[in-house]
Amino acid sequence: MEIKITKNAHCAAKPADESKLGFGKVFTDHMFIIEWDKGCGWHDARIEPFGNLSIHPASTTLHYGAEIFEGMKAYRKADGSIQLFRPEENFKRMNRSAARMGLPELPVEDAMEALMALLELDKDWVPHSDGTSLYIRPFMIGDDHFLGVHGVGHALWLIILSPSGSYYPEGINPVRIMIEDEDVRAVRGGTGEAKCGGNYGASTRAGMRAEERGYSQVLWLDGVDRKYIEEVGAMNVMFKINGKIVTPMLNGSILPGITRMSILELLRAEGTEVEERRLSVDELIDAAKSGALEEAWGCGTAAVISPIGKLMYQGVEYEVCGGKIGPTSQRLYDTLTGIQWGKLPDSFGWVCPVK
Ligand SMILES: *Cc1c(COP(=O)(O)O)cnc(C)c1O
Repeated sequence: MEIKITKNAHCAAKPADESKLGFGKVFTDHMFIIEWDKGCGWHDARIEPFGNLSIHPASTTLHYGAEIFEGMKAYRKADGSIQLFRPEENFKRMNRSAARMGLPELPVEDAMEALMALLELDKDWVPHSDGTSLYIRPFMIGDDHFLGVHGVGHALWLIILSPSGSYYPEGINPVRIMIEDEDVRAVRGGTGEAKCGGNYGASTRAGMRAEERGYSQVLWLDGVDRKYIEEVGAMNVMFKINGKIVTPMLNGSILPGITRMSILELLRAEGTEVEERRLSVDELIDAAKSGALEEAWGCGTAAVISPIGKLMYQGVEYEVCGGKIGPTSQRLYDTLTGIQWGKLPDSFGWVCPVK
């Protein structure tokens, strides 16, 4: 792939106070774009100064939700070097999301080449403070310029970068979660296992209602029986019940998280039993009542591990692990973040250095 590079002549100053970065608010000097047209395929790969896109008002993405994305991080190690965590898995998943949405697939080698070229230019934007990272957001939009409902004929595939602060600037605080029994986020055969903007659109109302009631996220139930646990907010979810780790099996409506996959691989490698199966809300609530529910946590790239301290279901609140982070959640958090920031050896071959 040939990438035309136009350097930004007005590079911004790097944020002086990394503790004020927050998430996804600051962007680097450059962005990557490649275009796709039916007939001629991928063309015009380029890196340009970061800036607004010019979008036709009839663009498919604005009307019919043709959009997918990914999320990963570049981590700065203590020695100053930079590494990624399983980036090929993100690009492979992006292609699966693309296939589901009728969007074109970009070969993983090309996506990796694009990311490395962009990081080469903007690597000084990877923050240095503990727990900070450069958030990487690849995304693709369908961009035909007419209102007919049709297959995608023109698409844009981009990467933007955003230096982001520590997810836990004040230490890990378990969150309060509301079990959602009205709205559903996805159904089997729908787009639940694709990382697409539409799933987030469908989730917004429930998330807002939960926030109004003092909960930080919702725990989603399946869309058919409204009975089986699926995900928490935009994270996968895991429980420790009677000493065993249980997580909902991938059923077509759950997003296959790379953090989820890595945790399962870690646990299995150390000989810990994990169950990927259907878990009903009744079983979960019974376990919470009897004390069999020892720990609960969400997992995803942003938080890595987000312990659940309280669960609310049909007006009753259940405390999990005394409202504190449990030993398994803490150990998984320490191990994964240790590998990601290069503080622990990576015996799985997960990390990928950035030159
Ligand atoms: C991205 C995402 C996750 C977590 O995936 P990771 O690869 O671990 O970051 C889980 N659920 C949803 C809905 C997501 O969009």
